Parts: sequence; C-alpha cells; structure tokens
Amino acid sequence: MGFKTINPASGETIRTWQTMDSAKVWEIARLTQTAFRKWRGLTVAERIPHFEKLAAVLRENQDDWAVLITTEMGKPITEARAEIEKCAWMTEVYAANAEAWLADEKVAVDGRSHTVIFQPLGVVFSIMPWNYPFWQALRFAVPGLLAGNASLLKHASNVTGCAFAIEEAFVKAGFPADVFRTIVPDYETVSDLIASDIVQGVSLTGSTGVGRHIGAEAGRNLKKVVLELGGSDPFIVLEDADIDFTARGAVAGRMLTAGQSCIASKRFIVVREIAEAFAARFTELMTELKVGDPRDESTQVGSLVNPAAVTELEEQLAQSVALGARILCGGQKIPGPGCFYPPTVVTDTRPGMRLVDEEVFGPIAPIIIVNDEAEAVALANASEFGLGGSVWTRDLVRGERLAREVDSGTLFVNSITKSDPRMPFGGVKNSGLGRELSHYGLKEFVNVKGINVYDHG
Ligand code: NAP
Repeated sequence: MGFKTINPASGETIRTWQTMDSAKVWEIARLTQTAFRKWRGLTVAERIPHFEKLAAVLRENQDDWAVLITTEMGKPITEARAEIEKCAWMTEVYAANAEAWLADEKVAVDGRSHTVIFQPLGVVFSIMPWNYPFWQALRFAVPGLLAGNASLLKHASNVTGCAFAIEEAFVKAGFPADVFRTIVPDYETVSDLIASDIVQGVSLTGSTGVGRHIGAEAGRNLKKVVLELGGSDPFIVLEDADIDFTARGAVAGRMLTAGQSCIASKRFIVVREIAEAFAARFTELMTELKVGDPRDESTQVGSLVNPAAVTELEEQLAQSVALGARILCGGQKIPGPGCFYPPTVVTDTRPGMRLVDEEVFGPIAPIIIVNDEAEAVALANASEFGLGGSVWTRDLVRGERLAREVDSGTLFVNSITKSDPRMPFGGVKNSGLGRELSHYGLKEFVNVKGINVYDHG
C-alpha cells in the first residue's frame, strides 16, 4: 500500500512511500532481536561512546534534518534546528550519567549480599507522533538503547522521511547493525508485533485514544508499556503576577510548534483582578507574531500539520463562541494552499466549551476568568488530562504550594512547561502512564532484578 508525505505549508507532495509488507517487518524485527543479544553483552561504559558519536552526528546533520522536519510537518526552521540540538544535548546528558544511573544498588537485608541490578528487557517497540519527530523518537530510543535494549520505531506516517533519517543517524554513529531500526508497518502488523515474543516492551507517544488502544494491546499480551498522551495544561495567572513577563510566557507556552505541543499551555486560568490587563497584553503580543513560510528564518508561527487540524480548531472555536466565548484576536483561518491559522485569543470561556474541555492542538488560547486561587486550582484539576502546567506569581512560596496542588506529571512556577533530560517527564490521568527522561525514564524498560547471596551453611 502506498501513501504520500505532504508539505503542509504548500500542499505539495514530498514523496510517495510504500507500507512494508508484513514479511519485511518480521525480517527486520528478527534482525533487531539478533542484534539485541550482542548489544546486551556490552557494559554501559562500552555503549557510551556510540552515544557521544550520535550527538556529534546529529549536530553535523542539523541543517539538513531540520529542513526535513520543517518540510514534513510545518514547524519553523529555527524551531526544527533547536529540536535537533536538544536531541544532541539530551544524548550527551544520558551518556554522561548512564553509568551512575544504571549502577548496581546494594541493599542491607539478612544475607551476605543483596544487589539490585538493571538489565535490558529486549526489543522495545516505539510508536511515535509527528509534532517533534526527532525529539520524541530519540527521547525514547537513547535511554532505551543505553540500558541495553534494541529498538524498533514505527513513526507517524506523515514524517516517514524523518523516521529513516533517525535510523541513518544510528548507522552514521557506528551503532551495531539493526540495534535501532525504522519500520513502516500497517496497524495489523503493529498489533501482531506487540503480541509476539520478539517485542518485550512498548512505548507510545500520541493521542489519548490511540494510547488506550495500544495500551490495551500491550496489556492483553502482558508487555511493559509507557504511554505519553495528550494534555490540556493549565497556565494559572495569580493577581500578583507581572503582566508583561507573564503575557510573554503565555505566548511562548501556547505557540511552540504553532500550538501543537503536548505540553503547550492550553487553558489560561486568570484571577479576575488581573484578567483584563493580562488579556490585553497577551492579545497584543499574539497579534505581533509573524505567521508564514516555515522555511523563512524570520517566521515565528509555521503551518499546522494538515487541513483536518485546521478544521478541528474551527469546530472547537465555533462551538465555544456559540456558547458565549469572545474572540480577542485571530479566529479565521488564513486562506491559501497551506494549513495556516493565526494566533488567536478567546476570553469568557468556561467548562462545557470545547476549547476548555478538549485538547486544543493549535494556536488558540482560551482565557477562563476565576475569582481566586482556590477556584483556579479546582478548575486546573477539572480536566481529564494531567501532563504539565504552570503558575505565575511573584510569591514563590505560594507558587510552589499551588504547584503541589495541581494534578500533573510536572508543574512549573514562572516558566513555561519544558522537558529536560535531567527531570522526569510524563503524565497522570488521561495524559498517560510511566515516565520518560532522567533516571526514571532510563529505568522504564529494564528488568529490576534482585541478586541475593547467603552464606553456605
Ligand atoms: P496519534 O494519532 O495518536 O498517532 C501517534 C502514533 O500512533 C503515530 O505513529 C500513528 O501512526 C500511530 N497510530 C495511530 N493509530 C494507530 C493504530 N490503530 N495502531 C497502531 N498505530 C497507530 O497522535 P498524533 O496525531 O501523531 O500526535 C498528537 C497527539 O500526541 C496529541 O494528543 C499530543 O498531545 C500527543 N503527544 C503527547 C506527548 C507526550 O509526551 N505526552 C508528546 C507529543 C505528542 P500513523 O501516523 O500511521 O497513523
């Protein structure tokens, strides 16, 4: 079966690809399983130089692979370059810390020695989304492989070029053949792989609906699974926040990748006292953003991923406006062949409106006005999601107290939500389960094994 990758900024076809037939997928999966048997035999110290080389390869190819990202999914070229750099940095952080993070742990029990060791599971199958095509795939693959696993990647079909570029990065870095392979399977073969003895773990980053489906398949087959799913992160503005600083944070939090980030700020919960001033400054800054050709160095907002994404935003906005939401800027798709939508601020939103209840995967920022911090936290938690979020206040003690009250995997005070290889990343509720990044992510796909030695007699 053939499919096309399409440049969302122009509507032009980039390339036609063929889905691999199942025989080809199984052949690659078996090769990866064979590669794992050797790879697991290396010590962590022996694996590390491959990752140092991988970071260098990413930087050497940064310009070309950034163009590929931009062409396939529409983000500004400056953001695409930053994505590759972040992958290189994350790889270096893991290379520098893996030995310490995977070191044996001694435990005092009743025998001669008790040691906890961390052994790889085998071939781990990753299914990844298009919005950060390099970052999402490498964020899983680097720690997974460092721990001694091998990996199969099934990427989102619209970034198939990126999927093969990532495979090329591992080859260029001199990894043993087949330790990391990209496959292009149909959904049925994905299910068969999860059920097979070859795959020992599954990592999905994607929407909540697909997460339920893949999570169920993994559960049915008793496979370890990590699910990084959707989010609707609250951005809580307290009455003592600095207006300009906070409004700039709101723009940055909402607009990365044209708003198509799982950890984008998606619900702007603002205390009444400051709401009008915040909305005015936020609207002003959003209006100033330059939307356009993502290959242009000066573009700040690129294209959405496809026409369906634009239609979804239009429907979420229309339903909310029908229920009383007021548009402060934007709100009309930009005509043309590309999938462009302007930065949009909407106020007077509330639960019951799709802009508040659902994940909004694009550049629309709903403002919800509340009376006080208690109402802000209650509203922040009144969501099916729990990925990230932020609180904006001059009072850092109050900020940290509120951060502890919001149900989420991560919470920032006076900063937008960001991922960092030294900190855990993941969600609660319908945002998923398990963690990526940091030593927590490194240990998701390992056998945490106890070795217990007693004296003889
Ligand atoms: P998606 O539609 O769920 O797709 C994710 C991956 O699953 C793609 O590779 C897709 O392949 C595959 N897939 C879809 N249906 C499948 C099925 N029935 N069987 C097997 N594989 C299947 O998500 P998306 O639109 O690419 O990404 C956007 C979503 O991801 C948003 O909800 C966002 O919040 C979430 N996300 C979460 C995080 C996080 O860390 N929590 C990070 C980034 C994105 P095809 O392309 O071939 O359909």
